[in-house]
Amino acid sequence: MPNAYQGTLLHIDLSGQEVQHLPVPQWLRETFVGGKGFGAKLLYDLLPAGTAPLDPATPLMFFPGPLTGTKAPSIRACAVTKSPLTGLFLDSYFGGEFGQEIKYAGYDGLIITGRAPQPVYLYIADTTVEIRPAASLWGQDALEANANIKRECEDPSLKIVTIGQAGEKRVPFALLSCEFNRQAGRGGAGAVMGAKNLKAVAVRGEQLVKVADPEGFTKAVAQAHTELEGSDDIQVLRQTGTASAVEFANEAGLFPANNFQDSSFAKADRLGDKGQSKHLWLGNIACLGCPIYCSKIGAIRHGKYAGTISDTVEYESAGLLGANLGISDIRAVTHLTRLCDVFGLDSMSAGGAIGFAMEAAEKGIIDAPDGIDLTFGNVEAAEYLIRGMALQENELGRLLSQGVRRAAVALGGDSEAFAQHTKGLETPAWGPRGALGTGLAFMTADRGGCHQRGLPAPIEITHDEYNGKPVDPRATEGKAAMVMEMQDFSAGTDALVKCDFATAGIAIETYAAMLSTATGVERDASFLTDLGARIWNQIRLFNLREGLDPSDDRLPKRFFRDPVPSGPQQGQHFTTEQTAAMLEEYYALRGWDASGVPTSTTLDTLSLGTLPRFVLNS
Ligand code: SF4
Repeated sequence: MPNAYQGTLLHIDLSGQEVQHLPVPQWLRETFVGGKGFGAKLLYDLLPAGTAPLDPATPLMFFPGPLTGTKAPSIRACAVTKSPLTGLFLDSYFGGEFGQEIKYAGYDGLIITGRAPQPVYLYIADTTVEIRPAASLWGQDALEANANIKRECEDPSLKIVTIGQAGEKRVPFALLSCEFNRQAGRGGAGAVMGAKNLKAVAVRGEQLVKVADPEGFTKAVAQAHTELEGSDDIQVLRQTGTASAVEFANEAGLFPANNFQDSSFAKADRLGDKGQSKHLWLGNIACLGCPIYCSKIGAIRHGKYAGTISDTVEYESAGLLGANLGISDIRAVTHLTRLCDVFGLDSMSAGGAIGFAMEAAEKGIIDAPDGIDLTFGNVEAAEYLIRGMALQENELGRLLSQGVRRAAVALGGDSEAFAQHTKGLETPAWGPRGALGTGLAFMTADRGGCHQRGLPAPIEITHDEYNGKPVDPRATEGKAAMVMEMQDFSAGTDALVKCDFATAGIAIETYAAMLSTATGVERDASFLTDLGARIWNQIRLFNLREGLDPSDDRLPKRFFRDPVPSGPQQGQHFTTEQTAAMLEEYYALRGWDASGVPTSTTLDTLSLGTLPRFVLNS
């Protein structure tokens, strides 16, 4: 009976130039479902403990979920590997069409291991799998390589993931470019791909994804569409993408300015939807099968950067390459974001690193390179550093390209006091002083400081209700439970692999109904949250095995030492008592011991520890 899975995982060993088609075990589907779930289990099982992220043995994997490639709305895919930035588990998400094409080619995932002796790209068309030479593509940016592979294959319908120069040079926050405007940005999967001498993966497929109960599935999908259309939040996303969050966060005092020295920015309106719609936007586009159309395609029509084709400068890039660098010209921020995209750098970590360097220069800890005015607000300095990091073409760029954690260690002195990261992942554009649950979410996120594992900020700053009670942003009480529930929801639905934005509209019961009717196995909402808890604990086991020190479940020093100097959160900062209290409660609720390690009872409850090990050579 059809069940929305294709039943096969494709393993390509670049060292041995071997290709293997592996069946997807029944137990893996039942206990980990797909997407993040498959990634959590397979990375734990396939990565030899302690392997360096850029070692050939580290797998780079791409996982759609059971709903990817069906008519379920707003479903995507993810890349999973060990992060060269954090040394921890990395799952990084992308929209577009690449994930669907993996399913159409007949696979529930791609597992890439080894290292090719020379640059190559993968060509996958259903059962045809070829490792092709890519010497001529090496050195090209992410979009050039994409276009040239389509030209070489005489097939514009190919869906392609590429790396830019940053990935080739193994910059630890290099991204994967999944078609022209979708990136798996965070954590450095692009460097893992570069270390494999793999420039691109091009996929085309002709196999349908068939669901178990077509009538029931159509009904569940219609319900999802009804919920999306009825949601005010979705209407805002449709009109502005995430750009409207700029003014929202700024008015609440959570918007980073000048390397998080402040939490509001006087010219934020220029970076948000008003500034962007005036200067850039021309029309809406969407990932395959998404009715939200959150992307705003546009162009810079005047001035120094005229001719640049733009997509929405989404909230995080507007914050971290804009206000966090003291830059208010949206066309300049668009230009900087575009440079990150084509060179293949995560714009969030790039913005964090540049902000760190500007503050280091302000404090006299580093000297600006000759001819560079390394002050907040200087677009040319930001461009100099982006080029320096991505292309490794100047000394300061090379230092910053290692991320702010390593850069601060190298510089020494008091530079750690303003190195904005958690576990090595640069802080997202939500300054959490004044929103304690948001701080806890960053402290405990599985891939380091991250806003995509549950973000309490919008609920906290609007004093909205959570589980029927209004939330006090400055209280510690209740934050551990709220963060844990959000994380489990996020991890469970990331097994499907949903778009975070769509969850503003679609209820968890509806995701469960789509999963049930697609697979033919009845699942309810609690299945998804239990699944999330299983995935979260599996990843915790991985991170602990790979050297995570639980004392790193903490926020950057600045959020303790430096009260917010102005704006709505003036005077706010964390105390160690607050974070310790929230963390203690969080560990207890998770079923972890006082040092942050899952207990054997917890592992038994989640069926972890008794599951088979996934092996490649079965
Ligand atoms: S909401 Fe935006 S990012 Fe999410 S699937 Fe739709 S178009 Fe893609």
